[in-house]
Amino acid sequence: MSEDFKKLPPIHEIDRFLEAQGLGHGVEQRGRIEDLLAKLRKDPKRLAQWERQDILTWLAEELSRPVGLRPVINATGTLIHTNLGRSPLSPAMVAGLPELLAGYCNLEYDLEAGKRGQRVSESERLICRLTGAEAALFVNNNAAALLLCLQVFAQGKEVLLSRGEMVEIGGSFRVPEMLEASGAKLKELGTTNKTHLRDFQNATGPETAVLLKVHKSNFKITGFTSEPSRKELVALAKEKGLIYIEDLGSGSLQTVALEGKPVEPGFKEILAQGAPLVCASGDKLLGGPQAGLILGRADLVERLAKHPLYRCLRCDKTQLYLLERCLLAYARGERVPTQAMLSEPLSQVEERAQKILFGLDPQRFRLVKSLATPGGGTLPEESLPSWAIGVQDSENKAEVLAKRLRDGEPPLIGRIEQGILLIDAKCIQPHQLDLVNQILKGLFD
Ligand SMILES: *Cc1c(COP(=O)(O)O)cnc(C)c1O
Repeated sequence: MSEDFKKLPPIHEIDRFLEAQGLGHGVEQRGRIEDLLAKLRKDPKRLAQWERQDILTWLAEELSRPVGLRPVINATGTLIHTNLGRSPLSPAMVAGLPELLAGYCNLEYDLEAGKRGQRVSESERLICRLTGAEAALFVNNNAAALLLCLQVFAQGKEVLLSRGEMVEIGGSFRVPEMLEASGAKLKELGTTNKTHLRDFQNATGPETAVLLKVHKSNFKITGFTSEPSRKELVALAKEKGLIYIEDLGSGSLQTVALEGKPVEPGFKEILAQGAPLVCASGDKLLGGPQAGLILGRADLVERLAKHPLYRCLRCDKTQLYLLERCLLAYARGERVPTQAMLSEPLSQVEERAQKILFGLDPQRFRLVKSLATPGGGTLPEESLPSWAIGVQDSENKAEVLAKRLRDGEPPLIGRIEQGILLIDAKCIQPHQLDLVNQILKGLFD
């Protein structure tokens, strides 16, 4: 064992080898090299079989793989895939970005007056026109939006929240913990399945400042359940002098409809029901960049904008530019990619799947029916009919094929269902069809 450790090449030898291979100076890769050597030390079997030259060749191979943030193709069938960067933007939405970022821009500069101006805010005005909101404020993401609202309006005070809405939303976002982080005190009401209006009435005391409603996201309570309506809660908050805040989660501008049936209200309907403050994500159903959108009463939004915490949570120029492109697309009646995927007829998905399938070996690739999902905690109960390419091979398991596609350039990410690798056409963008076809053609080379 200790003899085998002696095979591990010293760092100067690794550096020299990598440089000779055109893989840059070892210093750039030191962290990765250390991780790889540590991995090898924990694998005595492999180490026993290898000579020093094998180790160097393996290191060079591993280090030539690209790292860092890069594009992948989403063939999972999950539209708003948080691990894959949520909503894709259309090429038209991002076309102006290189020019904007490679130079200066009028982020906080009033071109007419020739002096310092207001940050943004054409798009904040635009979203007001699209939703009927009095005022809007954009921050870094929806978690930031909720934190800001709670800190400004409920720090050191009580927030009423139904036990049915004390949810955890994917990695690290738990509503009660967010509340605690803001310095607000959580007052839980009702039970997991039933909360009544009287629970809110009875819980309101001199310390209560906010009545919070949170979208349940990935979670659905069914059966023996009830909760007060939004209208009742908004009216109660008004009567008791509380601020009603709703975390809408996904954040569509208007009612989301699937196959013609409405499934969820958007900003417009919620604001029309009198909600004074509503927040949501920019990169879920809205289909824009990562951002938190806060919409509501002008006096409340102004208090948020003037709070020092806002300075820590505000958007950068990239987010603001992309939000503007996204909202302009809505204003012009165009569909951003996420909305287009949600509402597209099944026949179009089939057309895309057929294009991907073109010229592929019918023994290994065939068209199969599939169910895609909205994802991102949106519309948890809805699935979207789709078509996929099922990949099957007598020699290779689905996991092996899936890994091979992930190792490609660009990586293609499918999903495995009942032992079959599926390449779901639902989220594959129109400009990627030829590329996916080529990737699959090369899968068995
Ligand atoms: C997704 C989600 C969040 C977090 O939004 P981010 O934009 O990821 O910060 C908060 N609340 C609800 C209900 C959500 O669905």
